[in-house]
Parts: sequence; structure tokens; C-alpha cells
Amino acid sequence: MDNNATNIADDVKRFLKFQSELSGGLLYLNTKSDTKREETTQKLTEEKTTKQQSDTTPKFDTTTTLTNGRISPVTQTLFATQDEWMKAETIDSLNEQICNCMKCPLGKTRTNFVFGVGNPNADVMLIGEAPGADEDRQGEPFVGRAGQLLNKILEAVELKREDVYICNILKCRPPNNRDPQPMEVEQCEPYLHKQIELIKPKIILALGRIAGQTLLRTGDPLGSLRSQIHDYLGIPMIIVYHPAALLRNPNFKKTMWEDVKAFRNYYDNLLNENLS
Ligand code: SF4
Repeated sequence: MDNNATNIADDVKRFLKFQSELSGGLLYLNTKSDTKREETTQKLTEEKTTKQQSDTTPKFDTTTTLTNGRISPVTQTLFATQDEWMKAETIDSLNEQICNCMKCPLGKTRTNFVFGVGNPNADVMLIGEAPGADEDRQGEPFVGRAGQLLNKILEAVELKREDVYICNILKCRPPNNRDPQPMEVEQCEPYLHKQIELIKPKIILALGRIAGQTLLRTGDPLGSLRSQIHDYLGIPMIIVYHPAALLRNPNFKKTMWEDVKAFRNYYDNLLNENLS
């Protein structure tokens, strides 16, 4: 089989797996090329872990981020005041330092602070808008039906929940799942920046219109935001439907598949660039 035919066959298999994962069917079987991809991903993960253990380069270049116009004035103030949590050196220590935050009114109404979950050395970071009712109850992002669907979507592109890092822009649930308010984002987004600094993802997947619009400070509809590589703090970012939107409207499945396939292809190219 030539390369083209192999790629098409791979696409078909992945689409069948995606459909299978979302509908609970049993259409997909692992193949040699999947095994090879898993081996490559595992090798890269091991290399990244080793590299990070010996990495002595400076962390996030805050000077650049402050001058690229993306970070809010509040964030600049936080950088300037050097709050204690800004010095956190691990994701767990950051969590410990901010988990009692009361900087915005959502601190008073939350049941649980929802920091984030996953691999602290992840290449892929998933960002939603804010915790919902299930997340608020359990203290973990993307649980409940939408979370289960997200796990299946990840599996369809050969990623596991524990491979990636998952969090939200806001760490506390807005009452009645309303959209995040600008003041809440201004107060909470610096924590996300710090999570990004510590995790150093190669690519970000923004989950849903609100997350995409909030991160990019735009009112553009999802239809024009998807299918593009955006830039968030110098990291490539792709915006896809929120899993909850797929639960409400199964017609979005085909579009979602196209988007997650594009994400997987882009991520594979990044991995291959790292190998060469
Ligand atoms: S939403 Fe963010 S800023 Fe507001 S209280 Fe929770 S952690 Fe603090």
C-alpha cells in the first residue's frame, strides 16, 4: 500500500473508532500502524520526561507574554506584585497555594475548587470554560456525562485521559452554569497561565465556544474559530465543540470528528518535528 492509501486507511479506521466510541459500538480493532504510533508516542513521552528532569532553561518567558498584548492588566499586576503562588514550582504546590482562593464572588458559592487533573508533563492541555454541577460536586474537571464523552473522544484519537492535562479557565462554578463574567476571568486566568507555565504543553485544545472566545478575547462564532490554529501565549491552540454540545446535538459529531482529526494530525506533525 502506498503512503496515500495508508493515510486514507488510517483516517477511515480512526473515524470508525470515533463513531464506535461515541455510539458504544464495536467496529474498531487495533492495527500495526496504531501499535507503531503508540510506540512513538510512548518513546516521546519518555524523552520528554527525561528532558524535563534535566531541563535547566528558564521557564515561561513572562516578559514576552506581557508585551504580546494577550495578558490582561490584572495579570500584569499579579506578575508585578509577585504573589506567593507565582513562585510555585510544581503543579501540586500551585494547587495547594490557590485552592482557598476568594478573589472573586464564585469563591463563596462553590462547593469545591476545581484545579485540574492529568499528566503534569502533558504535551496536550485541554481547557474548558468553568466547572459545571458535577465538577463542582466532585472537585474534578470534565466528569459526568460530558466527561465520559470527552474520554471517548480522546480514545478515538489514541490519547488517554491520564496522558493529557485537563482544566478550566475558572476554577469555581458560576451559579446555574452561566457564562464566566469578565471580572471572574480577569481574576482567575492568571492561575491558568501559571498552570501552562508549569506544564509547558505543546498544544492546547480549547473545549467549546465560550472557552475559545474567552481565551482569545473575541466574539467570533465557533464556526469561524474552529478549523484554525490559534495562538494562546505562544502555544498553538485548536478550538472544538464542548462535549456537552455533542450530547445536546449529535449532528455535531461529524464536525467534531473532522476537528479532532485535524488536531491529531497537527499534534503528530509536532511530534515528528521533535523527532527529526
Ligand atoms: S473563580 Fe478563580 S478567582 Fe474566583 S474564587 Fe474561584 S479560583 Fe478564585
